[in-house]
Amino acid sequence: MRLLQNVSLQPYNTFGIDAAAEFLTELESTQALEAVAADTALPAEKHIIGGGSNILLTKNVSGLCLLNKIKGITVEKEDINHVWLRVNSGEVWHELVMHAIGNYWGGIENLALIPGTVGAAPMQNIGAYGVEVKDTIESVTFWHWQERAFITYTNEQCRFGYRDSIFKQELKGQVFITSVVFRLNKQPKFNISYGAIEQELQKMNAKVLSLQSIAAAVINIRTSKLPDPREIGNAGSFFKNPTIPVKQYEALKIDNPSIPSYPVSNDLVKVPAGWLIEQCGWKGYRKGETGVHAKQALVLVNYGHAKGSDIWELSGEVLASVHQRFGIELEREVQVW
Ligand code: FAD
Ligand code: NAP
Repeated sequence: MRLLQNVSLQPYNTFGIDAAAEFLTELESTQALEAVAADTALPAEKHIIGGGSNILLTKNVSGLCLLNKIKGITVEKEDINHVWLRVNSGEVWHELVMHAIGNYWGGIENLALIPGTVGAAPMQNIGAYGVEVKDTIESVTFWHWQERAFITYTNEQCRFGYRDSIFKQELKGQVFITSVVFRLNKQPKFNISYGAIEQELQKMNAKVLSLQSIAAAVINIRTSKLPDPREIGNAGSFFKNPTIPVKQYEALKIDNPSIPSYPVSNDLVKVPAGWLIEQCGWKGYRKGETGVHAKQALVLVNYGHAKGSDIWELSGEVLASVHQRFGIELEREVQVW
């Protein structure tokens, strides 16, 4: 094991924040993970980093950072309709999407170009363009630091919710997800319910609907709207879209007739956080090295030399102004370290 000390984490987080890890090592196998767990000379405090695309580093990180490079994809079983794939958690998410499309296995094509690793996907039940990863997950296997054992949870046990799971709640900080079993469709059902996809497919003049054309449409929309972390530091949507009671929504509509909403249940609606933030005047705002992206107000950015604490402060100002204007408490989606 190569143990590095006092290393900058700048290359390992998409915000590009220059905070240091007290110790850092790469893990390439579950055996190496077990060895790290058994080594009492190593710090007890451990932090897992996948692609670093959903973390905000507000200070130096004490203890040991584990960079997840545990790779491998195997077909567990298949029948006429489905294939069950075991994917090790250090695989790059977008590469898995492309691998599935290449084999004509459907279910995750709408999730193309989401940065990060497979192991982080169940953490917040990644979602985009009308699809959530939970609908393809059969089971999740993880190492439990305290139990000192590998444990497998069924989909139901993962308690997936909107950008949420048991791994973000009760099991937060307690487990290392090592592999995920996905059930993908050999007879794919295309999901183009999300308006922007249909429009993009028309623009592309796509004659045949396919896994490839849907993924290409998603990739086109994403590259036109979202800042590329290699150019401008960001962690995607900084806040979750709030779900509010229909009654509260109807009351807000009186003064804000154009407020958008999407039904969640009979009593609840989802309101796009980006719209709320934009209405408060933040879209395109810049203060020093931090700002709110000009094309999507839900994305906070680092123009180069921002500190994590600058971005944290800005997120607090955004939260306060949305609360003051709409009475809605936004929740940060990004994991703050
Ligand atoms: P990291 O940032 O490395 O880690 C995130 C958290 O998960 C940390 O707390 C970490 O400790 C923990 N973690 C990571 N791996 C493991 C593991 N193996 N076991 C246990 N804990 C672990 N998200 C969406 O849902 N939908 C989107 O459409 C989307 N678009 C994005 C677009 C951009 C440009 C960016 C920058 C981000 C976007 N995101 C999106 C957010 C992010 O890509 C996802 O949340 C992604 O799953 C994070 O993966 P990661 O490997 O980078 O996680
Ligand atoms: P958008 O199309 O401008 O829409 C704004 C919001 O409205 C989205 O967040 C989405 O909620 C909601 N929405 C739009 N059409 C919907 C529909 N038909 N049904 C239900 N909800 C609908 O959003 P965007 O910012 O360009 O993002 C596009 C997609 O990529 C979204 O699904 C978004 O979640 C995802 N994305 C996520 C991140 C992240 O970091 N989490 C970053 C970039 C993009 P949902 O978010 O619930 O889908």
